[in-house]
Amino acid sequence: MTAPALFDVIIIGGGVNGTGIARDAAMRGLKTLMLEKKDVASGASGANSGMIHGGIRYLRYDRKVTELSCIDSGYIQRIVPHLLFRIPFIAPLTAEDVEHPSFRERFLAYGTEVYFGAYDLYQPYKGGLPSVHLSPEEVYELEPGLRRNLIGAMTMDEWGIDPWRLCTLNAVSAQQHGAVVLTYTQVLGFLRGPKGEVEGVRVRDQRTGQFSEYRAKLLVNVAGAWAPKVGALAGVSVRIRPGIAYLMEGIESAIPEIRQARVLRAWAGIRTTLYEYGTLGDSLSREHAIYDHEREGAKNFFTLIGGKLASYRIQSEELTDVLSRRLQKGAECRTHLEPLPGGQSFPNTVDLAVHYRMPESTIGRMAYRHGANAVKICELAEARPELRAPLCRCEQTSYAEAVYCLREENVRRLTDLRRRCRVAMGPCQGARCAGAAAALFARERNLSVSEAHEELLDFVGARFRGKRPVLDGEQMAQEELNRGNYLTVGNLDGSYSGG
Ligand SMILES: Cc1cc2nc3c(=O)[nH]c(=O)nc-3n(C[C@H](O)[C@H](O)[C@H](O)COP(=O)(O)OP(=O)(O)OC[C@H]3O[C@@H](n4cnc5c(N)ncnc54)[C@H](O)[C@@H]3O)c2cc1C
Repeated sequence: MTAPALFDVIIIGGGVNGTGIARDAAMRGLKTLMLEKKDVASGASGANSGMIHGGIRYLRYDRKVTELSCIDSGYIQRIVPHLLFRIPFIAPLTAEDVEHPSFRERFLAYGTEVYFGAYDLYQPYKGGLPSVHLSPEEVYELEPGLRRNLIGAMTMDEWGIDPWRLCTLNAVSAQQHGAVVLTYTQVLGFLRGPKGEVEGVRVRDQRTGQFSEYRAKLLVNVAGAWAPKVGALAGVSVRIRPGIAYLMEGIESAIPEIRQARVLRAWAGIRTTLYEYGTLGDSLSREHAIYDHEREGAKNFFTLIGGKLASYRIQSEELTDVLSRRLQKGAECRTHLEPLPGGQSFPNTVDLAVHYRMPESTIGRMAYRHGANAVKICELAEARPELRAPLCRCEQTSYAEAVYCLREENVRRLTDLRRRCRVAMGPCQGARCAGAAAALFARERNLSVSEAHEELLDFVGARFRGKRPVLDGEQMAQEELNRGNYLTVGNLDGSYSGG
């Protein structure tokens, strides 16, 4: 056992809420420890649609919630501008909508334009474009795959984000402000004081098998779908209502040919929603709640449950406010003002490409993922020109970028690398780059050949698990062959061209 350390706060879970709270708490000067049983963003935060939306649906019952969601979406753009990209939506208007006999349905169909128009009032908070009414001809020109009986469509402007990098950057920022971030560290149980108060955790390092104990004044359960399990370890009840709603039929009603598309891989995440709806303490959202478990005999222990990626920052602020008040210390929240790492400015990609003699497409992807820190990656490539070579061609990831992530962004397993710089996430799903990535990882971490091969098999296996449910016929045979190649020879020696 290692000697217990005393923290102000221990955060259990390294999703967007855990990393967001860790950053906020550390920035306010709280001595912070974040524990994650796998890699950051390996729960719902790495298995979502990545939308930083403004909450148009709240308009139906509480326009204030829409306003606050849009304001917070604007804050996220301010602190991490390089990581966001525009997602224009098309909301099709079908013939049924206007032919339906009920006055209410007719009203709803024609009211759509009014509804989107009302949402436009909040778009300036998040730099969104106003909605546009499209004629059927304009809709089909934009999206020929849509069903044929549309009477038009409305557009709606939202933003998307790379959720893995959002969590990574929050964790890195937390560390820069003094937090300790331990990934692959699972909480197994709680330490209790003489009156039953929660005083700390017992953990196991999933890589080394080592057991440790850590103590803190306050502890936070942000374990997402596992929050009930973590709560049970402390003897408290946390109830969630899992919702996974992938309705292929729903998509098919708008895009009939959708089933003919080539499917790359399948993934799933559990969206935790509140077990009971009712009056909640917070006024921002009807989708998340903070529980203080003192009344259940677990003093000092809190749970944050539900919510959404788009509101992670304000949810984290709300929870950290609770911690600060309880500890009677901690400065004001500044997470909406201070940029995340790389968010200070967006580099001129043309200049960088010319100056560092790297393809503009590679620099462009790098700048999207790292913002101002892309320059640091270019410097790495300048010092070791062989690192300019592409590691993952599908995603335009250079060796230099992978090396930067391995050194700066809490990568403990090879599989973590894909969440940092999208290695093996393109159309080939790692068929071309897995061996090269494993060789690079082995070199950076000084691994033996058998250790490197283990990492490679784990990496290829994880990719294959996502492909297996959606592959068929020849494509399946090709994948089996490719996997067999890695399972046997490993392709480690021949594929790494880096220095
Ligand atoms: C399919 C899907 C699509 C979605 N799309 C959107 C969207 O477009 N926009 C949006 O705003 N929201 C979206 N959401 C919701 C959003 O993803 C979640 O609200 C958010 O990611 C929850 O984050 P979290 O940190 O609370 O939980 P998680 O990300 O699940 O994190 C919990 C973490 O706790 C760790 N953990 C569990 N047990 C332990 C333990 N014993 N010790 C240590 N660590 C532990 C887990 O490994 C996990 O990493 C979507 C959700 C799903 C499932």
